[in-house]
Amino acid sequence: MGAPSWFPCNDRPDDKASYTFEITVPGGHQALANGSLVEHRETGGSARWTYHHPGPMASYLAAVYTGRFARETWTVEDAGAPVPVHIAYPAGRAKEVRHDLARQGRILQVFTDLFGDYPFESYGVVVVDAELAAPVENQTLSVFGTNHMDGRRGWETLVAHETAHQWFGNSVSLGGLAAHLAQRGVRHVRGVAVVRAPRRGRRGHARAAGPRRAGRAAGQNLRIADPGRRPPLRRPHLRPRRLRLHALRLAVGDTRFFRVLRTWHEARRGGSADTGRVPRACGTGDGPERGRCPRPLALRETVPRYASA
Ligand SMILES: [Zn+2]
Repeated sequence: MGAPSWFPCNDRPDDKASYTFEITVPGGHQALANGSLVEHRETGGSARWTYHHPGPMASYLAAVYTGRFARETWTVEDAGAPVPVHIAYPAGRAKEVRHDLARQGRILQVFTDLFGDYPFESYGVVVVDAELAAPVENQTLSVFGTNHMDGRRGWETLVAHETAHQWFGNSVSLGGLAAHLAQRGVRHVRGVAVVRAPRRGRRGHARAAGPRRAGRAAGQNLRIADPGRRPPLRRPHLRPRRLRLHALRLAVGDTRFFRVLRTWHEARRGGSADTGRVPRACGTGDGPERGRCPRPLALRETVPRYASA
């Protein structure tokens, strides 16, 4: 549901704020929202749950859930500061959820190593008792459907994907549609190439090679700098960006690629970013590799070739 349908806002992703939620639900029900629970007060047959998130947060990432949930909290000790990770799910799905989210803390830790300190005070996953078309990366509280918890970690790339959004997409928001597309590319690179193949290697290349071939076969001819007038979220826009970022990673090497991601996030956290900053940043870094980045890569109009694959 779009944010303007449940609270007044101008709904610009680059207009961020802190949020306080006061939610009253019938006794026996729970309320969940972004940030931390600061008060829980029972009165008569109802209960008021108050959450606060200092943010800053874009309105489209605000979320409230009510119902009956089983809940657990874990702590990731080494994500900059210790980060509480809250898990909420329908009690009847405990077995699948606990198995499928068992590595959530580890994922958050790995991303902390790659991207820099976790940007918020907590993280959480709520599994709602419904089937969802896709999970959503609400800030500090991603949501999944029961269809994403199969008890076999069949959707674990999405568990990682929504976690990665906390840095890229949430902490650093889109500065325009083109930037949004580029950022989606970044996240997909993480989902595919980082989680499944932590080191650049055959598996990472193999996973990226399929969509690359498909993109070339389909004659995709897209610019990363300007999505033009096409519908912005159509998939053909996303995969070429994912591939470009993978090509960029191969071109500059993991050390430099992730150093750029860390400094890029650190410099823009709580704000938003514009088109093509990551590739540009790769091309202007310090050190012996300076200037080695194929800088026009980001602006090429066709699906890229890999420097090595
Ligand atoms: Zn996403």
